[in-house]
Amino acid sequence: MSGELKPCPFCGGDAEVRTTYYELKTKDVPINSYVRCTKCFAQTYEFSYKNTDRTGTNPVESAVDAWNKRNGRN
Ligand SMILES: [Zn+2]
Repeated sequence: MSGELKPCPFCGGDAEVRTTYYELKTKDVPINSYVRCTKCFAQTYEFSYKNTDRTGTNPVESAVDAWNKRNGRN
């Protein structure tokens, strides 16, 4: 797992990172990623590589960060 995921802010369930990888030689390039709850399926926005590569931000990290931040509110 990449980074630490806080439990779901709505139901307390386990969260998981869902990532689509660019399917070439390696699967090192995540092109789309979001975090969702495995119980109630609450989820973050989907972060895509093309929107974040200019800053060098990994979409997986963006999704995890968004999930963890939302945990403190709502
Ligand atoms: Zn939940």
